[in-house]
Amino acid sequence: MCGIVGYTGEKNCVPILMNGLTSLAYRGYDSAGVAVWDGSDLVLRKAKGKIENLKDLLEASPVSGKSGIGHTRWATHGEPSDVNAHPHTDSHKTLAIVHNGIIENYQHIKSMLVKNGCVFVSETDTEVVAQLLGYYYRGNAFATLKQALAMLEGSFALAIIFADDPETIYCTCKDSPMVVGHGNGESIVASDIPALLEYTRDVCFVQDRQIAILRKSGIEFYDEFGAEIEKETLHVDWDIESAKKGNYEHFMMKEICEEPDAFRKTYDQYVAKDFTLKSDRFPWDEARAKALDRITIVSCGTAFHAGMLGKKFIEHMAKLRVDVDIASEFRYGDLLIDKGEAFMVISQSGETADTIAALRKAKELGCDTMAVCNVTGSTISREANHVLYTYAGPEIAVAATKSYLTQIIVLYLCALDLAQKRGEMTQAQVTERLKEMSKLPAAMQKVLDNKEQIQFFASRSFAVKHVFFIGRGMDYALAMEAALKLKEISYIHSEAYAAGELKHGTIALIEEGSLVVALATQPELQAKVASNMEEVRVRGAHVLAVTNGPWEGAAGHSHEQWQIDQMDATLAPLCAIIPMQLLAYYLAVQKGCSVDQPRNLAKSVTVE
Ligand code: GLU
Repeated sequence: MCGIVGYTGEKNCVPILMNGLTSLAYRGYDSAGVAVWDGSDLVLRKAKGKIENLKDLLEASPVSGKSGIGHTRWATHGEPSDVNAHPHTDSHKTLAIVHNGIIENYQHIKSMLVKNGCVFVSETDTEVVAQLLGYYYRGNAFATLKQALAMLEGSFALAIIFADDPETIYCTCKDSPMVVGHGNGESIVASDIPALLEYTRDVCFVQDRQIAILRKSGIEFYDEFGAEIEKETLHVDWDIESAKKGNYEHFMMKEICEEPDAFRKTYDQYVAKDFTLKSDRFPWDEARAKALDRITIVSCGTAFHAGMLGKKFIEHMAKLRVDVDIASEFRYGDLLIDKGEAFMVISQSGETADTIAALRKAKELGCDTMAVCNVTGSTISREANHVLYTYAGPEIAVAATKSYLTQIIVLYLCALDLAQKRGEMTQAQVTERLKEMSKLPAAMQKVLDNKEQIQFFASRSFAVKHVFFIGRGMDYALAMEAALKLKEISYIHSEAYAAGELKHGTIALIEEGSLVVALATQPELQAKVASNMEEVRVRGAHVLAVTNGPWEGAAGHSHEQWQIDQMDATLAPLCAIIPMQLLAYYLAVQKGCSVDQPRNLAKSVTVE
């Protein structure tokens, strides 16, 4: 959540910090600020609201200098305000600090400091760290940081500048992402890779309680005991353009349009040219695949919905039981999993706090852990025994689109691989399915080329107050993600229901003008879905049917029909998600919502 950026080098840091903050804005924030060493003083500029407010402030009261730190805050302790915005300082302005995360024992430390005469100006947990460092500081920044670090509990990423040594930036973190890089006579820290790409492609993730000391000449790393360590660098080959908006109005639209490409990139990593699976890319060999009697999948939000669909794929094709749980539920639940069991987490960023905690619990229990993840070097990708990467590239819009698609592709391929290794499908059947799958980007492109149809529908429907997404089987799992997408960016109340479940209660909510989107891509279940469409149609709902190729029956039970190219029923959800994402997008645009940064939401949920 929120963002940190810091720079030390030869250039004026202010535009660099502002660029960095802008590239991290997708993470969600409610205020922004910078601290800059102007040659004689640590100068702070902070503003509630958008980064533009900080820009205006900097125009009215300019500052420049060769080192500085910046922050976009997503308030957890104290309301969003100028005073609570970061950076914070101690009472003597010994230092300036920015912080992501939550210091869980801040009350305890604060009482100790207040007893010793510290006067606090903000309500934040962050100021407690600033005052604590100031309280201990006797001229040795490194020793002070180590001393304070040992006292901090919770999650944090911290970047600090001491006024005595103002061209050095001290960084440390725990359970909160932080990445550093050294370029040509300059060093940079940020919460995420895109903020670094203009300066260097060789980056290092700071790990829990490690300390990174950034100078323009280079970066030193220390472990939590203070011993200097060597760190491997990670070379990032994303091109800078892929983290920019280009000609699109929103990142979300750009990322939806990139889905055919993201599909190809992910597919090519796991499928050989002769349409066979690269079987060694999967975390089980034949004996293990046969021995498995269940997989537990744990994740949050969109990734949880990917897990739900993964369950349908794996159970249907590989005849292997899959249990899916929400990470925040799992971690405090009864943990009924045993040593050696297969345990999978799914996370785009690899930094989702609840998912990390679930993964660690499973590791403690001796499970065989694996992760579906989009970011190399992230906490989850480092800690899981096996990683199945998605190749979505950087995803900037808060609402997940191409990352979800690539997650369900990987899960689909896992299902095929397990099916083959468990003897549920022959090599020839798998190859046939993979061939058909390779045609999906073209089918997706068709949906994208006809997106005006969806835009037109949205322009007529944006005043709708309630939307119900219904479906059976795989379509139900897809409906869950469709409903989430819509509510998170358009703020329209939406729910997903197993189509057969409506009449057990929820149908009471259907009234004249309710919109019901019936996902009907599974031919075997169409007759059943038709009855459910009829139930809501006669009660006044406006019904939109999404079908897999032509379905004659649809017209009789719905007011509008959208078709994807006809394909194997198991593949249909991979394509049918695109019209659902586009529908959410256009409804949100029609309503004038902030599509890329919806209210109250953040991209990487790095707090519990
Ligand atoms: N807990 C801190 C605050 O409320 C930091 C929040 C953040 O991660 O932006 O100021």
